[in-house]
Amino acid sequence: MKDLQASSPSEGFMSAKNEFCKMALALGGELTQSSSFGKGPNGEDLTQDFAFFRTPGATRTFMHFSGVHGVEGWLGSHIQRQILQQSEWVAKAKTAGVNLIFVHAFNPYGMAWQRRVNSANVDLNRNGLDFSDPLVMTRFAVQPWQVGLWESMHTPALFWKKALSQLGKVPFGLLAQTIAGGQFHNPRGIFFGGFSTQAELQSVARQIQKVIAGKKEVVVLDVHTGLGKFGQEMFFRAALPDRNPADQNRKAELPASSQEPHYSARGELSLYFAREFPELEWSYWIQEFGTWPAPYVLYRLLKDNQHSNLGSLSTFFPKSQWWLENTTKQGLARFATVLEQMIA
Ligand SMILES: [Zn+2]
Repeated sequence: MKDLQASSPSEGFMSAKNEFCKMALALGGELTQSSSFGKGPNGEDLTQDFAFFRTPGATRTFMHFSGVHGVEGWLGSHIQRQILQQSEWVAKAKTAGVNLIFVHAFNPYGMAWQRRVNSANVDLNRNGLDFSDPLVMTRFAVQPWQVGLWESMHTPALFWKKALSQLGKVPFGLLAQTIAGGQFHNPRGIFFGGFSTQAELQSVARQIQKVIAGKKEVVVLDVHTGLGKFGQEMFFRAALPDRNPADQNRKAELPASSQEPHYSARGELSLYFAREFPELEWSYWIQEFGTWPAPYVLYRLLKDNQHSNLGSLSTFFPKSQWWLENTTKQGLARFATVLEQMIA
């Protein structure tokens, strides 16, 4: 493995992007990029980048996502670049009739500016709701204290006061769910899921369409950071619509990790893709890597939100060689396990 500090965040977004593209190209990947999502801190154009490894006749696709939550993409991008240094994976996928797609910097604005959200303050992994459905919001039972908490989610002092006042009054799981599960009330607050489908999602759907449309099966591995124990992996399924055919037809199950989050996100990205391509069997996996204790992560998110240009790199990409080596190793291992399970 090459030096793990290569193309670190300090070298900027373009360095990570160019390195990703160069490596994918060297392995025979087909590259394409999205239109611009604005400018980065160094004036650079911010794009999503896609590397396709197509196998003629393949009906199955394995997609690897980095940077759905912007800043968390510094690790995801790093893992992708480590995977792309090993040509054996591409060869294996080809032999087994599996298409591979790498999506680099799903939320390029957030990655470049070291923020979790996009430029409209939307959390893309809470943006998968069907906003054209007028009943979509009424499906969630909402109590006044929850609305009050959401309304305070851009004002740290008020937020802490309201959150602490609920401790002991409502079950901890419900409190965690209310805070981190996503809110659709306060566009200035944290964990805001948006009022409409964001361009980042539509752009990815457009790009992957040419590979997956009309095929059979798609497996997604979506890399995140900031939840769980320092440097440890959590691996769990994202939500899919009830009618998802993969739920009935799923072959051998990958075991989820023993640890699961204390909440389930509303409007996960997986719902959007399953809706856009309903003919496909979807399996959507989230790989989370812990950084700091949840209250601290929350504190940093509120601070970043309040100043909106603070960034939170060290919250989601700690300066620790141990953390980087450990998470990268698990990132590579999980990529291999999922691919091998598809091949088996
Ligand atoms: Zn995340």
